[in-house]
Amino acid sequence: MMPAMRDVIVAANWKMHTTPADAADLARTIAARTQVEGVTRVICPPFVSLAVVRDALATSDPDVGIGAQNVHDDLQGAHTGEISAAMLAGLATWVIVGHSERRRDAGETDEMIGRKLGRAVDAGLRPILCVGEQLSDRDAGRQDAVVEGQLRGALRGHDPAALDHAGLVIAYEPVWAIGTGRNASGRDAATMASAVRDTVAGLGWGLRAGDIPVLYGGSVTSANIAEFLAEPSIDGALVGGASLKPDEMAGIVARAGLTAAARGTAA
Ligand code: PEP
Repeated sequence: MMPAMRDVIVAANWKMHTTPADAADLARTIAARTQVEGVTRVICPPFVSLAVVRDALATSDPDVGIGAQNVHDDLQGAHTGEISAAMLAGLATWVIVGHSERRRDAGETDEMIGRKLGRAVDAGLRPILCVGEQLSDRDAGRQDAVVEGQLRGALRGHDPAALDHAGLVIAYEPVWAIGTGRNASGRDAATMASAVRDTVAGLGWGLRAGDIPVLYGGSVTSANIAEFLAEPSIDGALVGGASLKPDEMAGIVARAGLTAAARGTAA
């Protein structure tokens, strides 16, 4: 499938790092050091720092999107400690769903993740759906089947037009590469990005699948981002550990800017 002129996106997943006391400064610093034409930047702080990051960026760099790292799959109810999509109104415009750390820590299933996608879309949030295989799957050559199953499970029952309209982003994040310092090769990640679009195309999306930005995630740094962005099927990165370091983010987004310029998506 030929790449459309998809936007280049760099999303920062701060995971369970930063406190409200330091998140604003970090967001401001990263924003100031990543003002590169044509790159969509998103920062996903912990829930409790969404408001301070929103306020910090509103005055310093409103172009940076703010995302939540999760959303509950129910509208409301007896779910102590959880956050619904409606609660994110005014705090976030993006949301990560199905991150492998939530699949691992909170037992999230593909079905649950599918419901989260629905909640996100209904609330006007732009979802970043994470998929990726375990090391044992890759060693056994099952990566395509695993990721296909995750996509089928999460996208089942969703109207492709609605998800397309919501700007669905898919992050291919092999679990063995997350936080390990052992990134996938650019070639392997690109093969998986193409497989992701082929699977989605077969789920009733057809040519619309070509519009979906597919990010790579897993130990991305300023030193290896070029390998991923050299691949036409990869549209950016979901960055964990390195996203807490302004120097790293500056390097990653600067390289993303080259891809945006080459694609002609930098205005
Ligand atoms: C992530 O949190 O999605 C991630 C890819 O983490 P890291 O960059 O630290 O591997």
